[in-house]
Order: sequence, then C-alpha cells, then structure tokens
Amino acid sequence: MLYDRILIKYGELSLKGRNKHTFLDTVLRTIKHKCINFQNLEYERFYDRLFIILNNEDPFEVIDRLQTVFGLHSFSLCTKCESNIESIKTLALDVVSTEIKNPTTFKVETNRAWKEIPKTSIEISQEIARHVLKNSPQLTVDVHKPEVTLKIDIRAEGTYIMTRDILGLGGLPVGTDGKGLLMMSGGIDSPVAGFLIQKRGVGLEVMHFASPPYTSDRSIQKVVDLTEKLTKYAPNSKIKLHIVPFTKLQKAIFDYCPKSYGITIMRRMMYRICEQYANSNNFPLIVNGENLGQVASQTMYSMYAINSVTSMPIIRPLVTMDKNEIIRIAEKIETYEISIRPFEDCCTIFVPENPVTKPDVHKCLEFEKNFDYEVLIKECLDNIETMEIVEGKAFNVVTEDSSCPINDLF
Ligand code: ATP
Ligand code: MG
Repeated sequence: MLYDRILIKYGELSLKGRNKHTFLDTVLRTIKHKCINFQNLEYERFYDRLFIILNNEDPFEVIDRLQTVFGLHSFSLCTKCESNIESIKTLALDVVSTEIKNPTTFKVETNRAWKEIPKTSIEISQEIARHVLKNSPQLTVDVHKPEVTLKIDIRAEGTYIMTRDILGLGGLPVGTDGKGLLMMSGGIDSPVAGFLIQKRGVGLEVMHFASPPYTSDRSIQKVVDLTEKLTKYAPNSKIKLHIVPFTKLQKAIFDYCPKSYGITIMRRMMYRICEQYANSNNFPLIVNGENLGQVASQTMYSMYAINSVTSMPIIRPLVTMDKNEIIRIAEKIETYEISIRPFEDCCTIFVPENPVTKPDVHKCLEFEKNFDYEVLIKECLDNIETMEIVEGKAFNVVTEDSSCPINDLF
C-alpha cells in the first residue's frame, strides 16, 4: 500500500477556544496509549490536525484502535510529496494506480492552504485530473457524484494526497471534563448511558447495588463484563467498579414501607448513596440509564419523587430514546449480548405487583421515618468493594452460582 500515514481531524475540538490545548494534549495522550502496541508509529502534530506515520504498521489495525478514542472526527489514509505541481502529479497518479483498479468515476478536489503555489485550487484540480485521466483508462470524471474523490491538500511543509475518509467516534476526549459516577444495573440501558456520557468527555467510575444472596455472583460478573466493555473508551483503559452491599437496606425498605412504594424508596436510597459517594470523591455528577416512561419508576412523577433526595445533577443520556435506538448502540459497543444474560438485578427481585406511578414525595418522607436509613446507608458506604477493571483482562467473579431462591425473603 502506498499510504504511509493517517491524517486525523479533530471535529468539535476546533470549537474549543482557550481550552483547546488541554483537549489536544488529552487526545494525543489517549491515542498514544491506545496505540501502544504499535511500536513503529510516529506522531506529527500540527495546530488543527495530527498525522500518524505508520512505518509499516497496518493502517486498519491502527484505525481500529483510533475508533475507541472520543474527540476524533475522521481518519484519512494518505501519502505526502513536495508542494510543487510536478511532484503532486506524479504522486496523484501513483495513488490512483495502486488504489483504484476497477473502472470507476472520480474527481479531484484541491485545498490550497499554502498560497505560494502559483495556481488556483481549481486550476490545480483540473491539471491533476487531466494528467491522471490520460494515464488511467479505468477512470472517467464525474464532478457531481464521483465514486472516488482524490483529495489534494497543499501545505507549506508538503502536499498530502488521499482518497479514503473513515468517520471516527466524534465527541470530546474523555478526561477533559472530570468524572461522573455511573449507576450500572446489568441491564441493556446503563452501559449505553455510560458509553454516551464518555462521548461528551466525562470519565467514569461505576457503581452497582448488589443484594446477595438474592442476587448472585453471576449478576456481578455481568456488571464486571459490561464495565470491561466501557474501559475500551477510557483514556487509560481502566475503570473502577464499586459494588455496594445493598441487602440490609433493601430488606428494611421491604419490612418498613408499603410494597407499592418499595421501588421508589429503594431508588431514593440509591441516589442518596451515590450522592454521598460522589461528593466525598469529588465527582460532580451521577449518570444513569433512566428513560422516560419505560417502567413505573421512570414516569415523570417518579423521577420527581426520586430525584428530590439530591441536588447533584443526574444525567440521563437515554431519557428520550426508543428502546430500539438503545439496543442498536448496545450492539455496536458489544454490551447487548452480556446484558441479556438472564440474571437478576436487585431492582427486579423486589418489584412489587403494583408499584406507584405517581409517588408522593411527602409520603416517601413519612415512610422513610419508619426506620433509621442513615445508619444503613453508612453501612453500605463503609462496605463498598472496589475492583479495577482493565480492558482486555478477564476478571472472574463467578466460580459457582451462589444465589438463593427469592421466596426465602417472604
Ligand atoms: P437497565 O437496562 O440499565 O437495567 P432499566 O430500564 O432496567 O435499565 P431500571 O431497572 O428502572 O431500568 O433502572 C434505571 C437505571 O437505574 C438503570 O439504567 C441504572 O442506571 C440504575 N440502576 C438500576 N438498578 C441498579 C443497580 N442494581 N445498581 C446500580 N444502578 C442501578
Ligand atoms: Mg434494570
């Protein structure tokens, strides 16, 4: 292959004004980390673009890794020559004859960022097109809908020629906007929420509420495996996963509050725990997979009643999405198959037959007076177990199924 480098364009980063340098530093650090196994790569950084010089590394394998970095708009495989017409003509023809074998239509597009070359962009495009056409019987020109666009980017340091653009993930580099605490259940939604919030530059730690022995190690394994999928997008490929032992608090809710308010109060407790943890670790926000109208605990009134225990921003990236859209993303980020493994979540085991859909905040407060939940919350926080999940490394929780029948509760 003639292409010996990849041009990376940053997209939204170019809008970032004074923060731009921090963004660029973060994105370059992340790219270098993600590509650490390609020992021959070299990096050439310009103001608004980055080149990766391949030195014989496989460009498509490198691009696969670049597809885990947020903040990158597109990748173009390209090659370089001196900025004079004769060199450009020769290289353009080389590119066409190695890259385009079958009959097809093409056009030439020139960007003349270096104005000292003595012709206009259109004149250059025409001259190169004439030269290429004369020597390439497989090509015809179509300026409106060409199959291939030969792009010529003329700069002071040299001219780059490319024919293929591949879209990146977009978004903003993770780690430029602090960390959020992701509530992860093991279902389909929360990992997708985690992926989408990372896309806006937010780093993550993950919190999961477990109710052993009613939930099994297999549920924890699910959350571990889902978190591992999200580490792919973390700048250092690691995410901390916190497991909160929730059984005692959940049993108290079950014993002291009306069943129909069980889920509402349980979720109020989850938010309180998340908020306290987030506050003591300097995370400014909580992220979850809630979606308006999906289940009883996600009506507008439920959200109001649940949300009223905290003043911390709760970001719900999926709030307006249809389940199909969510599933499509889950498949793309390879979490779907893990999420549909059939193991119980602490929410599902305590689901009452008739949960309130319009819970009343005052009633919640009354019911919560029935037991000393502050002590139980403290106990949850004091006994959090933390694991560090690393991309590509198996973390085996499960040895055998340790759950006990739900009926033992009642
Ligand atoms: P998911 O598919 O993510 O499980 P869901 O549609 O099943 O979502 P709920 O069970 O009502 O919805 O939960 C809504 C959100 O609350 C979840 O997306 C998740 O962010 C959080 N959540 C629910 N259960 C837990 C849990 N056991 N630990 C941590 N967070 C949880
Ligand atoms: Mg769930």
